[in-house]
Amino acid sequence: MTPEEFRRYGHEVIDWIADYQERLESFPVLSQVAPGDVRAALPPDPPERGEPFEELLSDLDELILPGITHWQHPAFFAYFPANASGPAILGDLLASGLGVQGMLWATSPAATELETHVLDWLATLLDLPARFRSDGPGGGVIQHTASDAALVALLAALHRASGGRTEHEGVAAGRYAVYTSGQTHSSVEKACRIAGLGADALRKVDVDPQTLAARPEHLRALIDADRAAGIVPAFVVASVGATGTGAVDPVREFAAIARAAGAWLHVDAAWAGVAAVAPEFRWLNDGLEGADSYATNPHKWLLTNFDCDAFWVADRTALLGALSILPEFLRNAATESGTVIDYRDWHVPLGRRFRALKLWAVIRWYGAEGLRAHIRQHVALAQEFAAWVAGDDRFELVAPHPLSLVTFRLRAGDDETLGLMHRVNASGELYLTHTQVGGRTALRLAIGSPWTQRRHIEAAWQALSR
Ligand SMILES: *Cc1c(COP(=O)(O)O)cnc(C)c1O
Repeated sequence: MTPEEFRRYGHEVIDWIADYQERLESFPVLSQVAPGDVRAALPPDPPERGEPFEELLSDLDELILPGITHWQHPAFFAYFPANASGPAILGDLLASGLGVQGMLWATSPAATELETHVLDWLATLLDLPARFRSDGPGGGVIQHTASDAALVALLAALHRASGGRTEHEGVAAGRYAVYTSGQTHSSVEKACRIAGLGADALRKVDVDPQTLAARPEHLRALIDADRAAGIVPAFVVASVGATGTGAVDPVREFAAIARAAGAWLHVDAAWAGVAAVAPEFRWLNDGLEGADSYATNPHKWLLTNFDCDAFWVADRTALLGALSILPEFLRNAATESGTVIDYRDWHVPLGRRFRALKLWAVIRWYGAEGLRAHIRQHVALAQEFAAWVAGDDRFELVAPHPLSLVTFRLRAGDDETLGLMHRVNASGELYLTHTQVGGRTALRLAIGSPWTQRRHIEAAWQALSR
């Protein structure tokens, strides 16, 4: 593809995306295809001769779009929305155009330095503790996802707990333990499996039945029991905005307990953390100055398309100790000088995309003011929706809802609640998902699309209450 051809088709692709944004509401939110439908429509073999790009675009409309669940649809309320935005898409496109591998500072100095800088900017925007900034022993990095963040935090924790031995000896079964609330995301268990600890190393901390926050007394009891049995408490995860219900664990108390036990505290605020761009939500940061690492996803609720998890450590020594290997083919003067960051040592892969560009584009386009307005609008809509639920005797709210997630159910029971979800989802008008709270089924309405307006929330409530 010559630059001239690229220009032509590039314009068409941008037009396609802009048209898509304009007609988002004309699609059913949830894809209606059956398993195998998409593949059955595709030719069994790859083409022998190259094809015109127009044909790809027309197949995109005919074959692919029906199999798309429209995550950017204003009535997408499932999981946590993964909101994209114009500046993020364009920033991502520029990263693709540059096509650099920012694994070392030397392989593209701007890719590293912009990333460090933008993560410091984000720390400023969220008012994070100074220890996470790059001018001290800490610093930030973009991970693919919050799951990657939890994994590398666990590896750093094991490095620290073992005095640097785990990289050589591995982890013996039953030697280290990990603690997290029963409400915590499955990524923590996955990290335990990948790190070789096994899921048996994971201890689930009980939650308070009202607030659904993990109980510090139980964390302390679990840690004491492990220590008495000769097991090393290595890693504690607190959630700020648990996936099911949005519950917020008591980070300050967790930090004190983890510190006393010599364990690493990772705070997972994948969805909720970015709300701290608005000062009235800075309570989300309470106790963070006692955390060893912190993660939040601009790719969930800060207008940056997937993937973009912002991850900070208070002291990068353990992270580098866990992940740094310097083979001969990567040796270079800048690395040897010790004055640069090589982000290959901060995550699982070697190579890395220039993801800072899209976050930079988002922050510059919206400004702090625009980001605050984005968060506030969703929180206000969620509060209105929650008030409607609370005012209808057939429904009940099941968890606190200070942000943009509302969990609720039909008083009639679990089957009725699930039945309601299946019916509204099948209508194509909106899409929401469910969770379990206290052993009972609840529906989650998570607001996050930048296209969502009040009329979409009203329509969702009308569909549910009808
Ligand atoms: C969504 C979520 C995750 C996982 O997010 P990925 O970035 O997709 O790995 C982890 N923790 C919490 C609290 C989440 O809400």
